[in-house]
Amino acid sequence: MNESFRAIPSVDAVLRSPAGQAAVERFGHEQTTAGIRQLLDNERMAARQGSPLRDAEAIATLAFAELEAASASSLRPVFNLTGTVLHTNLGRALLAETAIEAAVAAMRAPVALEYDLEAGKRGERDDHLRALICELTGAEGATVVNNNAAAVLLTLNTLAGHGGGAIVSRGELVEIGGAFRMPDIMAQAGARLIEVGTTNRTHEKDYRTALEGEGVSLVLKVHTSNYRIQGFTSAVPATVLAKLAGAAGVPLVNDLGSGTLVDLARWDIRREPTVREAVAEGADLVTFSGDKLLGGPQAGFIVGRRHLIAAINRNPMKRALRVDKLRMAALEATLKLYRDPDRLAERLPTLRLLTRSRDEIAALARRLQPAMVAALAPAYRVSAADCASQIGSGTLPLDTLISAGLAISATNGSGAALERLAAALRRLPVPVIGRIADGTLVLDLRCLEDEAGFITNLGSLADELGRGQDDGLV
Ligand SMILES: *Cc1c(COP(=O)(O)O)cnc(C)c1O
Repeated sequence: MNESFRAIPSVDAVLRSPAGQAAVERFGHEQTTAGIRQLLDNERMAARQGSPLRDAEAIATLAFAELEAASASSLRPVFNLTGTVLHTNLGRALLAETAIEAAVAAMRAPVALEYDLEAGKRGERDDHLRALICELTGAEGATVVNNNAAAVLLTLNTLAGHGGGAIVSRGELVEIGGAFRMPDIMAQAGARLIEVGTTNRTHEKDYRTALEGEGVSLVLKVHTSNYRIQGFTSAVPATVLAKLAGAAGVPLVNDLGSGTLVDLARWDIRREPTVREAVAEGADLVTFSGDKLLGGPQAGFIVGRRHLIAAINRNPMKRALRVDKLRMAALEATLKLYRDPDRLAERLPTLRLLTRSRDEIAALARRLQPAMVAALAPAYRVSAADCASQIGSGTLPLDTLISAGLAISATNGSGAALERLAAALRRLPVPVIGRIADGTLVLDLRCLEDEAGFITNLGSLADELGRGQDDGLV
């Protein structure tokens, strides 16, 4: 026993070994020593059990590998082959090159964020984007906050924060996902929810009656992004709501959700109401996201009447919800792309991916199929097949885009084998995320643009599958 304890190398000996030196060089003395101490604890345990012991170099090599794994970013780039273009769990919109460059430039050097270069004095953060947003939406005023949830919260708090009534149709009291539920946001904003109508039908007279009540501060219209009520339904158009609210002297707020700046029908995608239309319909304020259809970084826009925007900017909560210079830079560059709609589908990744033709994606599937077969046969069958993509982030939930991809099933029909493959794909250097439905793993190739990188990445797939089997991972 004592004999084997004496065989355990000292921390110093491990540090002095070539791998130990390399670890110190790369990760610093403190982290390396801590890593080695932990491994030496394991060695003492092994000694107690009479198991074989590692020498100094082997321990240092292990420490190096563990430190390297721990130093990799946990925000790993992945291949999004889920078929959902704006996948909230995978970070939604990819930024345009000009937006990436603008954000990087804003990181490298001081920028005139709140500085008026002409007057040589303090400027306003919103100045960089206000004119551009107004130009693209036809609104009088605009401001930008952390995301659309913040835009709705801040708007409600400013206009109805002291228990003011906010009228909403029962058909629009949506839950967007996560913790964003309209009634809860209302309560957090300090507003008093006044529900009108029913789940499927709300009429003009419902709003009219509610507007006659005491202490009404606003009328809210909410885009029912992620679901649709069909059949015997009725909703009051925004133009009519604007007139009713106007006559009662309260503002109409329209939460558009995704809020596109262009008519998508131009690219054969079902049209969503544009922000410009929502403004023209008479909404006093319109809120929408930066990283849904707009294709920019996470942000929330509030556009509309100048005096209401000014009131929002005076709300102390605004400071807590504002956006930083990186996102301001990326947003400005993204918005500028909209000045040239003819080239938008080329430059804006979200639109580029949404408008990719089935034929182009199918050709990619046929090219990739042999590489996948080589990695997976004979345990799995791989075929090129049509599939259906979604826009995602609650946008047009019932509309799918015809797409193509690889359909993979286990030769023995085992669901466990399919799960094992999905897990092995997630363990690749660049994790590949697909979706399993009806005994088939579908890799929708709509969002795959780096074909060569994808093939290289498959190099270790057979190994990963084997490892999954050995570990009994399912
Ligand atoms: C997505 C959405 C939100 C929340 O927007 P985020 O930018 O994700 O915060 C709010 N309202 C509607 C109608 C939405 O679709």
